Amino acid sequence: KIIGIMSGKGGVGKSTVSALIARNLAKQGYKVGVLDADITGPSIPRLLGVKDAKAMGAPNNCIYPVQSSDGIKVMSLNLLLEDENQPVIWRGAMISNTVKQFYTDVIWGELDYLLIDMPPGTGDVPLTVFQSLPLDGIIIVTSPQELVGMIVSKAVNMAKKMDVDIIGIVENMSYVKCPDCDKKIYMFGKSHSQEVADRYQLPLLGQLPIDSELTQLSDQGYVENYHSDWFDEFSQKVKDI
Ligand code: ADP
Repeated sequence: KIIGIMSGKGGVGKSTVSALIARNLAKQGYKVGVLDADITGPSIPRLLGVKDAKAMGAPNNCIYPVQSSDGIKVMSLNLLLEDENQPVIWRGAMISNTVKQFYTDVIWGELDYLLIDMPPGTGDVPLTVFQSLPLDGIIIVTSPQELVGMIVSKAVNMAKKMDVDIIGIVENMSYVKCPDCDKKIYMFGKSHSQEVADRYQLPLLGQLPIDSELTQLSDQGYVENYHSDWFDEFSQKVKDI
């Protein structure tokens, strides 16, 4: 199954959610690959703890993905750069071709799931992913503020126009839990995710809190060490779909 992880805009936690889902599927024994199609903002290698690895060339101008400690196969432009701080200053056509090659020229081997961390928005590269890769479905990641606007609707409508199934919506950064009394604090106001999910008749897969432990672990590449009640609940939903 090829699943795209999409968001209306950057910084809502799309890559973090992609990494959490990948780790979760790998833990369940599935063979998982992650194609980092966020060419200009690639954060998957860091999140999956392979930021210092380099992808190796394979016969016939192909390339092998890098494997994480738990066997997730990863391809990202950062795995081809000498220094992860080097910017990629490319025109859209070149970025789109790279995404296509990450699908066609990478020796992925046998996989149960290929997750595609898509670039944010509904522009050139997401369009390439929709048109060139045989997606089975997409998951839309959003944040509460974004939900009140039209941005999620744009992502939903793009998927519909491209005739790709939407598996569901994940609302990230929904709330913060008070460390003293466990009360949920909705920093961005009342959540509208259920309303949006209902409007489009989509399942709401999870409402994930802001958790500084998750920020630290994911930035260090140890997402697999993250445990919490909400994560167990979210994992169960991922397992169900
Ligand atoms: P995107 O892929 O949408 O641009 P990222 O997944 O790279 O966003 O997340 C942006 C930053 O926010 C990262 O530093 C990440 O660790 C942090 N982050 C994402 N989700 C959460 C969360 N639920 N709690 C705390 N930090 C988060």
